[in-house]
Amino acid sequence: MLESSDRPGAIVTISRQDTIQHAAATMRAHNVGCLIVSDDEGQLVGLVTERDIAHRIAAASQSLDGAEVGQIMTDHVVSCAPGTPTGEVRRLMTEHRIRHVPIVDDGTVVGILSARDVMGRQLAEDRAAAEEVAMLSNCLKSIDLNEAAEIVAAEAPKLFGAKNCVLCLRRRGSEADDPELISSNRCPCLDGHMRATDDALEALPSDSFCEDMLPTECEECGGPGPRVLIPLEIRGLKEAGAGSERRLLGYLCMCSLAPDIAANRELISYKAKLTREIVTAHLTNATRYQQARLTSLTDALTGVGSRKLLEDKLQAEFDRAKRYKRPFSVAIIDLDHFKMINDVLGHAVGDEAIRKLAMCMKQEKRTPDVLARYGGDEFVILMPETRAASAQTFLERIRAKVREIRLPQDTALSMSCGVAESDPEQDDPRDVMRRADLALYGAKSAGRNCVKLWDATMARLIDADDLEIEKIKTLQRRVAGLSEKAEKMFMESIWGLVQALEAKDSYAKTHTESVMHYAVGIAHTMELGPKHVDLIRRAAMIHDIGKIGIPDAILAKPGALTPHERTVIEQHPLIAVRILEKMTFLEREVAIVRHHHEKWNGQGYPDGLARTAIPLGSRVIAVADTFDALTAIRAYHETRSIAEALRIMTDSAGYELDPDVVAALTTWFTNISAQCDKEVDQLTLEDLELWPRPGIEGSDDSMRPVSATIGASD
Ligand code: GH3
Ligand code: MG
Repeated sequence: MLESSDRPGAIVTISRQDTIQHAAATMRAHNVGCLIVSDDEGQLVGLVTERDIAHRIAAASQSLDGAEVGQIMTDHVVSCAPGTPTGEVRRLMTEHRIRHVPIVDDGTVVGILSARDVMGRQLAEDRAAAEEVAMLSNCLKSIDLNEAAEIVAAEAPKLFGAKNCVLCLRRRGSEADDPELISSNRCPCLDGHMRATDDALEALPSDSFCEDMLPTECEECGGPGPRVLIPLEIRGLKEAGAGSERRLLGYLCMCSLAPDIAANRELISYKAKLTREIVTAHLTNATRYQQARLTSLTDALTGVGSRKLLEDKLQAEFDRAKRYKRPFSVAIIDLDHFKMINDVLGHAVGDEAIRKLAMCMKQEKRTPDVLARYGGDEFVILMPETRAASAQTFLERIRAKVREIRLPQDTALSMSCGVAESDPEQDDPRDVMRRADLALYGAKSAGRNCVKLWDATMARLIDADDLEIEKIKTLQRRVAGLSEKAEKMFMESIWGLVQALEAKDSYAKTHTESVMHYAVGIAHTMELGPKHVDLIRRAAMIHDIGKIGIPDAILAKPGALTPHERTVIEQHPLIAVRILEKMTFLEREVAIVRHHHEKWNGQGYPDGLARTAIPLGSRVIAVADTFDALTAIRAYHETRSIAEALRIMTDSAGYELDPDVVAALTTWFTNISAQCDKEVDQLTLEDLELWPRPGIEGSDDSMRPVSATIGASD
């Protein structure tokens, strides 16, 4: 801004009767580009500039001799008062297309402003303003969103000499009375009067900073004018689930501006633009940081705390309990048989079950309790100020609520829980977690669907020299022997059941036995170890047990299946899993059964596994199963010879079937044909009987062929 003390441009006067040559000489002598033309009383009557003289010289073909200043002077003089803002002077110069403006104080010319003076002054003012606003950036050290907002509300008004300031940000689409963030330096606008709709906020022109733009009721109750309003728009990161970025709309409003600053609208506008850029950049970073931090502390599936939050809070609560000698309990909650829910109802329902469990616990927990997902179907609740007994009562209440949850097909949920109280003598918060985990193990062992408190008897076996290790091992072996016998009896019973089931179906009567036979033949040919061969034999024995759940009308349908019927029949591996899941000693067999309809190219079911991701046992059974399907006598399709079946399967190798396993089948038949002294083309199914079928007892290693070439890959 130009002060009256600023007197740029020396004032040199001339009269209208002086010659132009004299005017040019005077300009040169005083080194000025403009002369004031005054009358006899010294009053300003016009201006004459270097440009006026140059134009006259250029236009005049006649001599300048004797020509007077009055002929070329400008008598329409645009002047300004001392103190006129630099921007205003610049505006005048642009509007009137002039390069010199006299400064007139009370009728007296006190200076002349040239365009160069004005530009220089403007640059100096802008630089000073930019340096001042940059100080705001220096103050904004905190990346915490609320702290950053408070710093802005405290520091920004200083730039404008404003008394009151309020920073208000609302989430796009939220209620007008519900700001996401509000901070002020005691501005009365904070009393709930800063209301603005999304539309009003969006309508704020982002390059305009004037008081009448206030989209609020601020004028009635807020700080007095003059005021500046800086519209803000903060774009955060994409929000989980929402698909769009977090968007905050609002403004930084400052009232009671210092009069000298308020008078210089151009400077205010310039400072406001810089301020908006700094505040927007910093609040954007702070918002994004806050979002990223929140994401790492929140479990994406359930919205409750993440494992990271649990670790942070566990240490903090443990320390607090220890320091103040206060009780502190921990509960670990785990869904019962959750794998079965995934298997039978699908992963989407499994996810829904996890969410419902989390929601139930979130509703029941008390405010200071911390709920976090520990992983999979496991959650942890940290309970400050809580003794183990009350924690147990609380968890029993949750357990009862969880029993009320219903999934599709009227499936109920149940949970097991272990509870432990922190011991002030312990030094490590992981000890209380370990105890709660042991208690959970106790709850699972006790039959599930219960809450167990940790007690000292739950401790696990330690390694100690003075234990009777040998005696323990001997008894362990005997118990293992008993378990083996029990398993054998179990397999015998299953075999009985399978045979009884197949007896009803004339087509399937010998299917299981044949598949076992071929699978074992292939497994031997592949030189798999006896344990692996036995595993495959047992898996083959139960591979079709799930067909019990498929209606006979579909199972024995002679024609092509409809898409729905196909979906139904494709359930049989999962039904087998459901039937056998509780038999933990059959875990590996069950995995093989689950995947025996997967295809080498990933187009099979139920999981679409491909290549070696499919268990080897499943790939062997798939080949044996296909071979039996092609060669067995069926009412609804043509029966193929062994050679034909081998050709079809060789074509399928590398697409639907594992090529190594198909090769092993071929090798096996080559070996048999050599033994029978026949070509493979001449082999019959009866010839295969040369290789006795494996019974329930398992295969005899003496029967292994000698020419097997393909090694096991799993
Ligand atoms: P238990 O009664 O002994 O707890 O048996 P369980 O079947 O519940 O076994 P466990 O707790 O060990 O298994 C948890 C399963 O949860 C393993 C995994 O397949 C499944 N799982 C883990 N995370 C998720 C998830 O985010 N969604 C779904 N649908 N399943 C999950
Ligand atoms: Mg579980």
